[in-house]
Amino acid sequence: MRVSVIGTGYVGLVSGACLAMKGHDVVCVDKVQQKIGQINACTPPIHEDGLADLLCQTVGQTLHGTTDLRDAVLNSDISLIAVGTPFDGNEIDLRYIRDVSRQIGEVIKDKDAYHVVVVKSTVVPGTTDTVVTPILEEASGKRAGQDFGIGMNPEFLKEGEAITDFMHPDRIVIGGGDDRAIAAMDELYSVFPNVDIVRTNPATAEMIKYTANSLLATLISFSNEIGNLCAKVGVDVVEAMEGMHLDKRFTPILPENAERIWPGFITYLAAGCGFGGSCFPKDVKALIAYGENAGSPMPLLNAVMQTNNKQPGQMLDRLKSHFPDLRGKRIAVLGLAFKPGTDDIRESPALTIVHKLLTEQAEVVAYDPVARHEAEAHFSDSIAYEDELSRAIEGADALMIVTRWPEFSKLPELVKTFVPQPLVIDGRRMIPKDSVANYEGIGLQGLVR
Ligand code: NAD
Repeated sequence: MRVSVIGTGYVGLVSGACLAMKGHDVVCVDKVQQKIGQINACTPPIHEDGLADLLCQTVGQTLHGTTDLRDAVLNSDISLIAVGTPFDGNEIDLRYIRDVSRQIGEVIKDKDAYHVVVVKSTVVPGTTDTVVTPILEEASGKRAGQDFGIGMNPEFLKEGEAITDFMHPDRIVIGGGDDRAIAAMDELYSVFPNVDIVRTNPATAEMIKYTANSLLATLISFSNEIGNLCAKVGVDVVEAMEGMHLDKRFTPILPENAERIWPGFITYLAAGCGFGGSCFPKDVKALIAYGENAGSPMPLLNAVMQTNNKQPGQMLDRLKSHFPDLRGKRIAVLGLAFKPGTDDIRESPALTIVHKLLTEQAEVVAYDPVARHEAEAHFSDSIAYEDELSRAIEGADALMIVTRWPEFSKLPELVKTFVPQPLVIDGRRMIPKDSVANYEGIGLQGLVR
């Protein structure tokens, strides 16, 4: 199938490259020329495991990039819209969706062949039917369901594991305006046989995505609330969670004593310094606003956000219980990306933590294996950066583990070489609490001094 993907960010580029790898003829469109130049040179503009290999194998064969949306739509059978859908402070911001819908509509106006337009971006229920479709109809002068097809196909990939997730989907959700559009999406995904496919209407497809993300965010805030209580009353949240996880409803016992499947969804049931990224915060806020507008307020999700907003402060409170005056204290912030495996720092708890440290006039040195470039664009020279973990922690009064990068598990070894040992504040509970001399962890009672 000839596919155009509009917007080549984390979702668009990974989707495009994976579909090209599966044999479709894909063109990736972005308005940023630099990204397209990088893609055509097989250099991923984002950090994602395996993406460089995928580009090498597909660019010039079944994949190419362009800034020419008109040409891409004219020469494809189906367009996937994968542009950003940020939160504007009040509600979901659909300006990029509107722009692209208009641009595609103007091309459909001049296109004789049947074309299907699929929204892959995360949009609140009703958007495909009441925003995208009318714009396409107006710009093209044609009728959806008759002259062109319309669909909604949410994406569930996780940054850091995006290619594996896309290549091995657990489900594919296809929301179609009509049978012909659904058939086109079926053909697109026929390259993934034996996967559960949910075929539904666009509004339900849109709701499925928000339901999934809101639940995962809720699990995290729930864990953090329990963790904060544990820390107050002298219980270790890691032990409390382990005991809870073993419930067979969370971690099923398999027949004939086969090993239980770890970690499953319960990875989201762990206390930490909060969730971030380009999806959970904006999606939960967008759903809250959507519920409010629909006359169905969402107090639970409001609480999820409140708990999350406060969580980076837990790290600062720990630090200040040791150093009430942070002026001139050297603090190493370990991990800037919102999760391991990505260079995405959007809404990362690290941003809040660093800003608070700077307000308190601490001397901040940051280390992240892949997100330095993004952090420099955000903080410029207000903080120092190191390219090696050992150099970042040298001379630090305290280390704050913010991202669960696997290499941080070697911290106990490194920290032991310093006299005196710095304070370690573990925002992800990833190193053993007795592995360093001065340990503080989320969900663990503070050191008694
Ligand atoms: P992103 O910001 O990384 O990428 C969006 C891209 O669209 C940018 O490269 C931008 O230049 C491009 N763009 C904007 N307007 C354009 C136009 N008119 N023409 C061509 N290109 C244009 O966004 P993302 O993280 O890939 O997310 C895209 C959507 O997918 C969002 O709705 C998001 O909620 C959803 N989503 C994201 C993830 C994730 O992990 N990032 C996972 C699932 C779903």
